[in-house]
Amino acid sequence: MSLRSAINAMCRDCICDPLDAGSAAQQIGCCVSTDCPLHSVRPITTTAIPVRLLDGYHIALEQLDTRARGLVKLDAVTSESGQIGHFQSIETIPEGELCSVTGNAEGEG
Ligand code: SF4
Repeated sequence: MSLRSAINAMCRDCICDPLDAGSAAQQIGCCVSTDCPLHSVRPITTTAIPVRLLDGYHIALEQLDTRARGLVKLDAVTSESGQIGHFQSIETIPEGELCSVTGNAEGEG
């Protein structure tokens, strides 16, 4: 077995969980155990790492090393993600906190 194959096998045995989210490559890429002697030589592929996967692993983008950080793919931004805080349905907003809108669709009021 080559050194490369041995390191790959070690990382796979260490961190990979087939029942967890993400592929083996993504799970190894998201390893944040920087005190491990294999960390800087762990296998990194070109498989993208979606941001939501980091959320699932409860790690922040800043915790990844530069090799893994370059693989992180930002999720699409939607109008909902542009809101401040959690999405709040208009039905749950107290009456006094709503702006009063008068008039009709043509702007007459
Ligand atoms: S680099 Fe990470 S995945 Fe690989 S052996 Fe070390 S702790 Fe485990």
